[in-house]
Amino acid sequence: MATVTTAAPPPTAGSNPDYSNYVNPQWVRLLNLLQMNVRYQRCSGTELFTDDGTVILDFLSGYCVHNVGHNHPAIIEAIKDELDRHGPAMLQSHVPDLAGTLAHRLCSLAGGNLEKVFFACSGSEGVETAIKFARKHTRRKDLIYADGAFHGLTCGALSLMGDAFWKDKFGPMLSGTVAVPFGDLAALGHTLSSGRYAAFFVEPVQSEAGIRVPEPQYLAEAARLCHRHGTLLVLDEVQTGMFRTGTFLAAHQFGLDQKDTLPDIVILAKALSGGLVPVSAVLMTGDVYHSVYDSLKRSIVHTSTFSENSLAMRTGLATLDVLETEHLGERALHMGEELRRRLRESLLRYEMVKDVRGLGMLSGIEFQTPSSLKLRVPFEAFRSIHAGMFGQMIVMRLFRDWRILTQICGNNFMVLKVAPPLVVTEEQLDRFVDAITAVVDLMHTSASFWSEALSLARRAVNV
Ligand code: PLP
Repeated sequence: MATVTTAAPPPTAGSNPDYSNYVNPQWVRLLNLLQMNVRYQRCSGTELFTDDGTVILDFLSGYCVHNVGHNHPAIIEAIKDELDRHGPAMLQSHVPDLAGTLAHRLCSLAGGNLEKVFFACSGSEGVETAIKFARKHTRRKDLIYADGAFHGLTCGALSLMGDAFWKDKFGPMLSGTVAVPFGDLAALGHTLSSGRYAAFFVEPVQSEAGIRVPEPQYLAEAARLCHRHGTLLVLDEVQTGMFRTGTFLAAHQFGLDQKDTLPDIVILAKALSGGLVPVSAVLMTGDVYHSVYDSLKRSIVHTSTFSENSLAMRTGLATLDVLETEHLGERALHMGEELRRRLRESLLRYEMVKDVRGLGMLSGIEFQTPSSLKLRVPFEAFRSIHAGMFGQMIVMRLFRDWRILTQICGNNFMVLKVAPPLVVTEEQLDRFVDAITAVVDLMHTSASFWSEALSLARRAVNV
């Protein structure tokens, strides 16, 4: 195992006060607390270079944005080329050819009977679109979502999430939304049987809930149930799509390719941007599309100013080129499996590590309350001060001592998310396995780990 890097963290980036003064001072305080406030000078592939020459490995990928790695030269070239064309970037009064080309390509890759695309700018906007379209198509208003889901922070998307942290005091949310346990077909069937629901929104692998991979038959059976009850199946592939889990859609690994298991709507975002130009895409069946845009008068009944802008469309096409020519899906599938095998081998012997799971290059390491008294005492003390900080302690250690950027799952503070760009090398994966093993080992053997954790938790209470 490699030795711990003990160099002091790079200086904080707080030198320009404008961000704190005019944007989000609390965010700056949190980064300072976690000793993660460094100034990045440039980023390339999986590497982030700071002002003082430190190289940090990105094992977060901006929450699955950077599938092709940071600043891929082919994508930068395509963007520059598009700007040099001086074409109609956002006329909103013409037929944007590139949108047609990108939509065709996305539908071909997705397969099934997805044959129309609405382009938007974020995952949440994609979710809002799907809510509206599902309601219009089915003439029903109520919606089902899965417990633990993360669908975005606009009010419609928030209405499809249970975690109070994200919703508290932002209400009222949409009425008529109901949660079912993820993976529970009986509960889904029971809920659907009322015939009231326009759509069931589900992530094929729940990312922020803690990288929850369903049983192999769950999604196909859920699709059958939805179809039986006239409810649309909406797959949120915002994190799992674009080859993150090894196939273009995670759905492709769950048997959603039969006549009776096809999804009605699929939402893509994040990695479609090439990490550079925000864009999202809502893929849908012709039937869903036609029920919304059903006359000349309604040809722009749902639209968005930046939808179909040429820079985003060109970036999406260039991103697909890179993902396909570099075979990044196959890499994700094989290297992700090997990564989890090595993580299990190194970590499952520690009592606080409960599970290592995932699909493709989207993995989670789940921690648990220790059973031995020696660890239980400091863990409980820590948890009583600030339960949510436990995972952050690991994130901080990986960053400060090992120069690896990670994060815990947004709706499950006990799961560390491991999601490097799909261009990550074997050597970089080895570095990660060494690093997390060293941090977990420290957690199980060193009193200083817990004293620092306690002090962090106390300070976090005041942030
Ligand atoms: N859906 C999923 C599964 C997500 O993970 C996210 C964001 O993390 C969203 C939707 C919302 O996307 P955005 O932040 O682009 O609005």
